[in-house]
Amino acid sequence: MRILLSNDDGVFAHGLKCLVKAAEPLGEVSVVAPDREQSAASHSLTLHHPVRPRRIDERTWQVDGTPTDCVMLAVEALLPERPDFVISGINHGQNMGEDVLYSGTVAAAMEGLSLGIPSFAISFAGGDLRADTSMLDEQIKPLSLLLRHLTSLPAYPTHTLFNINMPPVSGGEIKGVRLTRLGRRVYSNSLMPMKDPWGRDIFWIGGGSIEWSGEEDSDFRAIADGYISITPLSLDLTHDQCLSDRESWWREP
Ligand SMILES: [Mg+2]
Repeated sequence: MRILLSNDDGVFAHGLKCLVKAAEPLGEVSVVAPDREQSAASHSLTLHHPVRPRRIDERTWQVDGTPTDCVMLAVEALLPERPDFVISGINHGQNMGEDVLYSGTVAAAMEGLSLGIPSFAISFAGGDLRADTSMLDEQIKPLSLLLRHLTSLPAYPTHTLFNINMPPVSGGEIKGVRLTRLGRRVYSNSLMPMKDPWGRDIFWIGGGSIEWSGEEDSDFRAIADGYISITPLSLDLTHDQCLSDRESWWREP
């Protein structure tokens, strides 16, 4: 089995190192990842300047581009053989609810899926990893078992990736796996008004507080209860229900 790994936290991120350890028992692992953090890069492609891959070792490349650039470059140019799976992560922080629309981690898996390869995005819904990585380190073993299961399924739903969030507990305390839907995230005070050194208005996007809402089977509830959350995400954003109910909102001009 050939597995391509990428992420949006950069090639030297601790989460990616953990993912390498979790995936290595399963097959031949290659890493193609951005040379710096690209969190919230979403599914962007670098179109206006070239991207340069640099080989770090036999099976690891860093690219001065986005997560999407990395997966495209890996599959189309760098790897001698097409991977059987693309796995992105482990992101430093959750990717639940609307996060998935901004996430570079999810986008790398989307790119794998766009290229016709079953793909998973993995995020650790824990706190600041710069202070303490022990909780994530303890999740390598359960994650490896989960990946062994996910890579041996008899079939994969078409145009669908698995968005996986790991709960902020130590490996032995994970209660199990729940299949979930996306919750809703509400940010408060996420625009911080500031002054630049010349007294002009600037804004820092980020920070503030996050609240969640959603149904019983939402991703954030699974995480709060100590379960691994797996949300199947469709690349086809078409709202089928809206199309079938078109009489309620559309009139011929
Ligand atoms: Mg990130």
